[in-house]
Amino acid sequence: MTDDPLQNSVQFVQGVGPQRAELLERLELRTVDDLLCHLPRDVLDLTDVRPPSKLEEGLVQTVKGTVVDVDGRRLSGGRSVSAVLLDCDGEYARGSWFNQTWVQQKFQHGQHVLFSGKPKRKSGRWEFSHPRVQWLETDDGEAHAGIITRYGLTEGLKMYQMRRLMRHTVEQFAEFVPDQLPAAFREQHQLLTRPDAFRQVHLPADMDEYRAGRRRLIYDDLLEFQLALAIRRRAWKRQDVAPVLKTSVKIDARIRRLFPFEFTAGQDQAVRAIADDLASGQAMHRLLQADVGAGKTVVAVYAMLVAIAAGYQVALMAPTEVLAVQHWETIDAALAHSRVKRVLLTGQLTAAARKQTLADIKSGEAQLVIGTQAVIQKDVEFQRLGVVVIDEQHKFGVAQRSRFSGGESSPHVLVMTATPIPRSLCLTQFGDLDITAIRDLPPGRQRVVTSRITGQAGRNRAWKFVREQVQAGRQAFVVCPRVVADEAESADELAASAETVHQQLSTGELKEFRVDLVHGQMDRDRKLAAMEKFRDGETQVLVATTVVEVGVDVPNATLMVIYQAERFGLSQLHQLRGRITRGRFQGYCFLFSDSDAPDAVKRVSAMEETADGFKIAEADFELRGPGDVLGTRQHGDMPLRVADLIRDNDVLEEARKAAFELVESGQFDQPDFAPLKIQVLERFRQLMDLPQSG
Ligand code: ADP
Ligand code: MG
Repeated sequence: MTDDPLQNSVQFVQGVGPQRAELLERLELRTVDDLLCHLPRDVLDLTDVRPPSKLEEGLVQTVKGTVVDVDGRRLSGGRSVSAVLLDCDGEYARGSWFNQTWVQQKFQHGQHVLFSGKPKRKSGRWEFSHPRVQWLETDDGEAHAGIITRYGLTEGLKMYQMRRLMRHTVEQFAEFVPDQLPAAFREQHQLLTRPDAFRQVHLPADMDEYRAGRRRLIYDDLLEFQLALAIRRRAWKRQDVAPVLKTSVKIDARIRRLFPFEFTAGQDQAVRAIADDLASGQAMHRLLQADVGAGKTVVAVYAMLVAIAAGYQVALMAPTEVLAVQHWETIDAALAHSRVKRVLLTGQLTAAARKQTLADIKSGEAQLVIGTQAVIQKDVEFQRLGVVVIDEQHKFGVAQRSRFSGGESSPHVLVMTATPIPRSLCLTQFGDLDITAIRDLPPGRQRVVTSRITGQAGRNRAWKFVREQVQAGRQAFVVCPRVVADEAESADELAASAETVHQQLSTGELKEFRVDLVHGQMDRDRKLAAMEKFRDGETQVLVATTVVEVGVDVPNATLMVIYQAERFGLSQLHQLRGRITRGRFQGYCFLFSDSDAPDAVKRVSAMEETADGFKIAEADFELRGPGDVLGTRQHGDMPLRVADLIRDNDVLEEARKAAFELVESGQFDQPDFAPLKIQVLERFRQLMDLPQSG
């Protein structure tokens, strides 16, 4: 028994012995607290159970009956419909499922079940399409009506057992749950007490109780996270003595002259915000968000040249070496007539060259350093570092961002991302940064013609088109979801592996052209060499995996074929497609996709319809979740316990506002918030590098 009853082992809950504790362990439920926070993954609203004759369209309702018929029908194209007929006291209702043949095994004549959902009238009968199902006797004899909670389970633990266990947990322990929120704050924001919240979320009498209970727990989760962000931001603002970098009309004009075009309105606005940051004396922590091709490089160069003009050094970090080299080439070209001393720091350098470069950086001789993130963080010492630009930093995560802060004088930090990020994700992942978005594109940019291609005939037409275009001098990317054949689990996957596709195309559809291959499992030299040959036009077609996703710039490449497009996230597809918006020729993107799963069709079609990266990101986020938008599946980056950024978007907005107000007004430092503060610091200190006392 520990002092804190909530930290006790799950075995303290009535009905949990060593065996059941082991099952719970598989769900990572070890303490009473873990159990309480194991919120229902959803609830079934069975408050409105009706006989079929009383059903209406458009409302969530439930029917209860006995299974009297189960059947399946094949449709064209390998699709199928399964149907289950219920006898509800002499009236009938049907459940139907599209492409889910498992349904036919799960139902048996004579079973008592509930169907819940929004029914539709079809050929004289009420039909529930993909209803929520509750089996009465096999699942939970008690759960006939009311709000039925549903939990994540593991094998050997049945739903009714989990529900009973939760009931015991709440009855025994909810009263011991501390409430860190001062009563006044709770009232102001219309929040239940935390013990009540646990009672209502696990044992709701109606949907309102459930929602209110859930809201409080989600609120806490998000509030604590936002408080941590607010604390970190305040710490930066307080500690950071940053160089004051003033821009003048002359400097401004000199920088603009480097580019053969006028800045777009979005670029102008970004440059102004950054110039203000740089002159403020407080370190800049700004995120620059812009779609592919919106011209972020220009803005980065501007920020860096302002610092160099003021006598400081600057660094630009890219996530990969390919990108570092590409940035180098762009910026080196832009600075062709300037005296700025610049160096490229990559793993390619010989030991001697590296030593010299590091010495130049240390002495301050090198003014502009371009490299990868790892290289710059580890062993590089700067003489006077004024600005750091981090490209595509969303690939790295919340924790790493703090590395540059601290010390006596901190550099200004500009983070850039070419992935438009939905607001709710931005508020978490980048919640401690100031945010600037460039929403316009340079003039004259063409929209890529995008088509979803199904079937062999479609593919033949696409290849014919590609051949004609390549013949006319253009280049093509062919993107595959997988690298190697031997990882493939099915014939389908095998066919879409980069190695297989490369082999097939170079001996088949594209045999008259020079076709090369690049993927992430190649060693660096081969990868760089392949990219270079493609950029120089030596190779005409490049078969690749998503290594070409970020930043790779080949203006003559105007064609892209993507295999199994439904396998990619929308944002990823958008990034990929961004590769062929670079030049003056019209771009064409062919999305090969034979899947007719509704979600796949929806996503691939979305790509045909819109070119707006911000819209695509929102759609992607809703369809696939945060991991895909950020191009990483590390959910450790999203340290939330119970909240779900998609579902709980409005609570997020509210909690964020409250958190920043509390911290910025100093109210959070008052004694009544002390318990909450301790909790926030404990929870996030390590992850976010928070100061000891907040
Ligand atoms: P991003 O990094 O945001 O994807 P880049 O900075 O690489 O975009 O710019 C994409 C292309 O657009 C580059 O070829 C660049 O020279 C060009 N460009 C940038 N800004 C402008 C502008 N204001 N007018 C015309 N072309 C521009
Ligand atoms: Mg770029």
